[in-house]
Amino acid sequence: MSILGPGAQYDTCGPRDFGQTTNIPGVYHAQFNGHSCRLFKVLQTNQCRNNCHYCAFRRDRDCSRTTASSDEVASAFDSAFRRRLVDGLFLSSGIVNNADTTMTNLLDTVHILRQRYRYQGYVHLKIMPGSSPSIIREAVKVSQRISLNIESPTESDLSSLSPDKNLKDGFFHTLFEINKQIRQVKFYGLRTPSLTTQFIVGAGRETDRDLVSTTSLLYSQFGLKRVFYSSFRPVADTPLAYLPPSPLIRQNRLYQTDFLLRFYNFTPSDLSFDSLGNLLDSVDPKTAWANSHPEYYPVNLNRATVDSLLRVPGLGPTSVQKIISLRQQHPIFSLTSLSHLRLQVSKLMPYVCF
Ligand code: SF4
Repeated sequence: MSILGPGAQYDTCGPRDFGQTTNIPGVYHAQFNGHSCRLFKVLQTNQCRNNCHYCAFRRDRDCSRTTASSDEVASAFDSAFRRRLVDGLFLSSGIVNNADTTMTNLLDTVHILRQRYRYQGYVHLKIMPGSSPSIIREAVKVSQRISLNIESPTESDLSSLSPDKNLKDGFFHTLFEINKQIRQVKFYGLRTPSLTTQFIVGAGRETDRDLVSTTSLLYSQFGLKRVFYSSFRPVADTPLAYLPPSPLIRQNRLYQTDFLLRFYNFTPSDLSFDSLGNLLDSVDPKTAWANSHPEYYPVNLNRATVDSLLRVPGLGPTSVQKIISLRQQHPIFSLTSLSHLRLQVSKLMPYVCF
């Protein structure tokens, strides 16, 4: 576990992934829907047949390798769970032999936990690209969340960073199959897991525009619950060891954009990119849209539609709902009458009227 627990740090479990914050190998703090939880995040093996340029476990890298049996992982998790050290399991793996062999090992672990240890709690399973339909169906049935990490948004980037991977036949085909299996399982009235993915940001030549376009496609066509962005960090003795780490501001801007796509009815064409196709560092993407559409403002807080209010920098879905409730009671005459709503009044000021 001292090798396989820290090895799982490269899998993101959310935008607020606090990393390994305890002394127990494999226990990570994360936040889901506002609730903090402790995940037992572990690789079943750090052996891998692939040679991704950014990865600590790539085939050609010299590092300590180990594999835990399904019995060992299940027993270690059960022991931590019974001592109330963890709240859920996040199980991942390097690829041994092929996708199905790897997934069979992960599924064996979950079956042991569910059947022998009677564990009915949260399981997040990473799906290997190229897994067969029957394996995917099993994963859909036994987990609360599944993820398929796409890593790069374009075919050219993926093939240069991960020569053994293929975007169309590997990832999109598997995503299509996951969706099919989720629909079928749902048809029988069974609970289905949410589906997420992760991009590595800054390891290749991908632009923010590439990332945002593929993110939008994943939400609209493949029913993803969340897309996560993980800033590239160089790993010693890999072909990308010489690259600087990706700045955190880039990851933050991508998360802000992700919120605009999911909750503010923005589309990729609404966003401002610089001449290289990247989001602006100097201003958040919503304010950038507002600055380039002066004709849209000021927005009248007493009359504007929900969509118009959502375009005001400083207003989010919750504050918009509060404003609507307030104006149903009486007209809003000034920003001071909104002070109890805890809004960033100075941010709103240039964009609203009454
Ligand atoms: S498939 Fe690539 S990223 Fe995943 S463990 Fe293997 S080398 Fe690392």
